[in-house]
Amino acid sequence: MKIGKKMEKSINSQIHAEFDSSYLYLSMAAWFEDADLPGCAHWMEKQAVEEWEHGMKFYKYLVSRGGRVVLEAIPVPQKEWKDATEVFEEVLAHEEKVTSLINSMAELAEKEKDYATRSMLNWFIDEQVEEEEHATEIYTKFKNSGGSPMACYMIDRELGSR
Ligand code: MG
Repeated sequence: MKIGKKMEKSINSQIHAEFDSSYLYLSMAAWFEDADLPGCAHWMEKQAVEEWEHGMKFYKYLVSRGGRVVLEAIPVPQKEWKDATEVFEEVLAHEEKVTSLINSMAELAEKEKDYATRSMLNWFIDEQVEEEEHATEIYTKFKNSGGSPMACYMIDRELGSR
């Protein structure tokens, strides 16, 4: 069954949100490179690629349901942060925002009785639990380090092994 117009619009805006996340995380990766935290840069670069893949997952799904993918402009991402703690605090806030977008999509799918989309979204609902868990873990580590260079070095090394 061809996808409905409301759901199509919602998936298109989620494609945009995922690519927007990807661009933000790549900007964070570039900031970490510049701040001499290569492990964090590596982690963030991988995160950027993952978000791109999320966007493509929605893209392919919309095509498979006979929908029309329409891309929007991606705004210039933030490029400066105070420190690593602030970056990960923003990653967490960003992921919480994405979770609420995914939840709204699930609500719409239920309202529209679009059970195929509702089922597809389960993967993203589970994925968001992981994203928030990881972001919280890293944010907490940096926050507890109190900016100690040795602690930052250790966390950076750990993130480099992702
Ligand atoms: Mg995502």
